[in-house]
Amino acid sequence: MTTITDRNPSDITQSAPLRPIGSITDMCLACGACAAGCPITGISGFDPRKIVRMVLLGRDSELIDSPLPWLCTMCGKCEHACPMGINIVNIIRTARGMVEREKVPGMIHKGVALGLETGNNLGLPEDDFRFIIEDVAEELAGEPGYEDFSVPFDKKGANLLHTLHNKLVNTQNEDLVHWWKIFHVAGEDWTLPSVNWEGVNWGLFSGDDAAMKVFVERIVEHMERLEIKNLMYPE
Ligand code: SF4
Ligand code: SF4
Repeated sequence: MTTITDRNPSDITQSAPLRPIGSITDMCLACGACAAGCPITGISGFDPRKIVRMVLLGRDSELIDSPLPWLCTMCGKCEHACPMGINIVNIIRTARGMVEREKVPGMIHKGVALGLETGNNLGLPEDDFRFIIEDVAEELAGEPGYEDFSVPFDKKGANLLHTLHNKLVNTQNEDLVHWWKIFHVAGEDWTLPSVNWEGVNWGLFSGDDAAMKVFVERIVEHMERLEIKNLMYPE
């Protein structure tokens, strides 16, 4: 995993490793625009201004050991609102990356581990995945106008690679059907990977650069092997 020290070897101190991230936390005006724009300000004591101030004051350890970094949705609204251009999301993600992996919140920790091991955050074997997808596809083929519908797995030369959010396979099958109907009506030439189909990169959310790289490489590998130029991410 890349550490803060890896990224900023010249101006890091042991006591305040987060401070150089974005490099201009000293410029914070304490104006609160970030907090006003943040959808979770006030929830469980969260406030992006507070996070920037903690970094500015060298209270890195306190921040890293707290639940605060994990409350952020990483939506980026705080940065959009900040008049000083402070890279708040990067600070928060970097703080997450400095948390010992066993202390990463359970669902994310488990999702990353399963994703690395099995190719999806659910840990679903290929046969089970195909069974679910083909079952949902069969239902759609029962609707008028979709009689010839089937899911094209691993189609070489397709126009679009469709990666999935695991919830579409797990609990929200109906959202799969919405996409498939659009593809069908539009005459889209698309395909779905039969393995490593997960499009949600929890390496990104957990601050785990090494895991993030693996997940990205898998998608790149699909696109190169199948000679596909367009990618559809679930989020
Ligand atoms: S990225 Fe995090 S801190 Fe910034 S607005 Fe979104 S939830 Fe709030
Ligand atoms: S919007 Fe920017 S300058 Fe204002 S408090 Fe937040 S981080 Fe500081």
